[in-house]
Amino acid sequence: VTGPVAFIGLGNMGRPMSRRLVEAGIDLVGFDPAESARAALVSVGGRVADTAAAAVAGAEYVILMLPTSAIVEAVLGDEAVLAELAPGTVIVDMSSSEPESTQRLSAALAERKLLLVDAPVSGGVAGANAGTLALIAGGPDEAIDRVTALLAPLGRLQHVGATGAGHAVKAINNLMSAIHLLGSSEGVAIGQRFGVDPKVLIDTINISSGRSASTELKFPKFILPGTYDSGFAMNLMVKDIRIAMGLASAVGAQTPLSEKAVELWATALGDLGPGADQTDIARWAGVTHDT
Ligand code: NAD
Repeated sequence: VTGPVAFIGLGNMGRPMSRRLVEAGIDLVGFDPAESARAALVSVGGRVADTAAAAVAGAEYVILMLPTSAIVEAVLGDEAVLAELAPGTVIVDMSSSEPESTQRLSAALAERKLLLVDAPVSGGVAGANAGTLALIAGGPDEAIDRVTALLAPLGRLQHVGATGAGHAVKAINNLMSAIHLLGSSEGVAIGQRFGVDPKVLIDTINISSGRSASTELKFPKFILPGTYDSGFAMNLMVKDIRIAMGLASAVGAQTPLSEKAVELWATALGDLGPGADQTDIARWAGVTHDT
């Protein structure tokens, strides 16, 4: 990477990811409408711009870490932004976006000789801080080759298929993760009512076949201690699992369990409100705290 890199979206994930790129020696220019997010990047040695268009001006690469496809489309559909993108610029959408939106955007950007790679991530805020994210990439081989070195400080890249396939696999991952988290929560709620200490239950599951990232990471770190602060909003999880259901219906897959899980997660989000963390699903499902 020789030229500057623009980083748009400096939130829970974008903040530690942009910091790691700055620490790797990359000349990084960030943009986020939130002043506190821009200040955080400046404090670790990055540069910031006042608009997305100013951030991407002269950039060799543009990384997006935004909440939804609607926002990705707004940024990449903004004429002021497009005017600053030189032919040959590589845009990497690391947000958990909708595969069909990604495919449409890729075709529209290709007309301007702009390359779009989808590289959403898994591993949470902790993985972003440690540079141990799974980078789930979609796009042609030559596009993936162009982003591999740039993304190395963030984690391990797995090339899963053509444009949009990264976003598809990410949505499927979160569907599975959401089912594990709700299922584990119901299991703990049953055990607690039978009189088993939830910590003992989780330790036992973690040497048994019911284990998952929910029991190995989310319960010990955020649920059993009662902090419920994983840094991944419940509304983003619901967005992701709805993307997965859209895919299921597009391909004609039968998914009765997933449909029920999405219905339960959406009800929880309605009950708990937009400030809820994904891990709040556990107390919604009946996990309790004595102390
Ligand atoms: P977040 O809400 O913390 O951060 C998003 C940032 O985007 C905010 O700082 C917001 O101000 C900024 N933003 C909104 N509109 C913008 C615009 N038009 N231009 C520039 N910036 C804008 O969200 P997050 O948790 O960092 O998640 C980002 C993406 O990564 C989402 O798609 C999410 O599903 C995905 N993701 C999150 C996690 C996690 O653990 N938090 C893990 C994996 C993937």
